[in-house]
Amino acid sequence: MSGRLDGKVAVITGAGSGIGRASAELFAREGAKVVCVDVSGEQEETAAGIGAAAVPVHADVRVAADVRDAVATAERRFGRLDVLFNNAGIGGPKRPITEQSEEDYARVLDVNLKSVFLGMKFGIAAMLRTGGGSVINTASAAGLVGWRKNALYGASKGGVVQMTKATALDFAEQGVRVNALCPGMTWTGLVPGAADAPLPPADASAPPQPMRRWGLPTELAAAALFLACDESSFVTGVALPVDGGYVCG
Ligand code: NAD
Repeated sequence: MSGRLDGKVAVITGAGSGIGRASAELFAREGAKVVCVDVSGEQEETAAGIGAAAVPVHADVRVAADVRDAVATAERRFGRLDVLFNNAGIGGPKRPITEQSEEDYARVLDVNLKSVFLGMKFGIAAMLRTGGGSVINTASAAGLVGWRKNALYGASKGGVVQMTKATALDFAEQGVRVNALCPGMTWTGLVPGAADAPLPPADASAPPQPMRRWGLPTELAAAALFLACDESSFVTGVALPVDGGYVCG
């Protein structure tokens, strides 16, 4: 099946790497025009690899003016916004809460949660101008269950889940669907050492997920595509684990 996003325009944050890059490439293959947003500079490479269907935007998702500009770019260049994938995120320091600083708190909560607030604030306003759309917010399995030494990260991702559900209720009658994607441990730049390393074999350093392997960015992108396209037209307010069974245990 192809063309599942024909005629649609998407904004994807964190598009320079990992899940965001894999999603930008998949959404474009499925017919979308894609605004590739990142602060790293890598969004240029993602967009160049896609070609005319993509435009890069340098933006810090913590900054309202940057997020507003990313949404405005979709409307200015491609005429509308149908899909908003609020995906940029950071892991933050892995240590107990007694050893976290106020700066750690502000950074993790701003990048992971304030970004989703800003994205939906400006993105849903744009969607309403053309009759609706689909928002996907990247939370985490850590937003559904506790992870040791990840209190700040878990708080940010639990916040994403609840912000998703409340916003889904607010816009259910106006044609805007809002869902969260909850990745398990996925082989991306977020994993120390993974950025330039090949995926380890299933039996070596396997994360504690029932499938005993890392998730792949393309597997998360496939789930995001389902939530983005009209095949999920009756799905809203869901926090979808894509985690090799992790949150079952
Ligand atoms: P990644 O590091 O490969 O990609 C994250 C991207 O976000 C990077 O390109 C980075 O530059 C960008 N980014 C970070 N801060 C930003 C900012 N302030 N403004 C704009 N862009 C910013 O990691 P990934 O795994 O692809 O992460 C995507 C999402 O998936 C994140 O929200 C992450 O929390 C979530 N997630 C990942 C895992 C995992 O195991 N990889 C597990 C659960 C959830």
